[in-house]
Amino acid sequence: MSNCIFCKIIKGEIPGVKIYEDDRILAFLDISQATKGHTLVIPKEHVENVFEVKEDTIAYLFSKVPQLAKAITSAFNAEGLNILNNNGKVAGQSVFHFHVHLIPRYGNEDGYQPVLVNHMNDYTKEDLVKIAEQIKAKL
Ligand code: AMP
Ligand code: ZN
Repeated sequence: MSNCIFCKIIKGEIPGVKIYEDDRILAFLDISQATKGHTLVIPKEHVENVFEVKEDTIAYLFSKVPQLAKAITSAFNAEGLNILNNNGKVAGQSVFHFHVHLIPRYGNEDGYQPVLVNHMNDYTKEDLVKIAEQIKAKL
């Protein structure tokens, strides 16, 4: 897509610091470097988000994630790694070309702070069964 910043990186029209590339995907350093080694993995085919991506595209992309994750982690002796994928503005997506963040972790104050608020007391077992049924009805 002509006005997409990640498509421009794929085409070499703007710079990107690449760590892996083949005919279907590209992995390059996130300019924000939330933590040292923070990497984005993208399909070369322009799709906006997880709702649009083809199954075989995402399957191929994720087939390369373990190797990339291990390389990033071992390059800087990281203690762990978060995998993040934002879909939609409300979910924090700011670049609308599907991408997976690989964020190596060095400690609690290393620059990335995922927070999952626990709402388990708001739901009964019956509520959870009903939620599951509503989702399953859409599969
Ligand atoms: P998201 O908020 O999940 O859409 O993530 C978009 C990411 O793209 C952010 O972490 C940005 O730092 C990163 N980003 C934006 N422009 C560039 C660029 N030109 N090169 C590398 N990373 C970029
Ligand atoms: Zn694009």
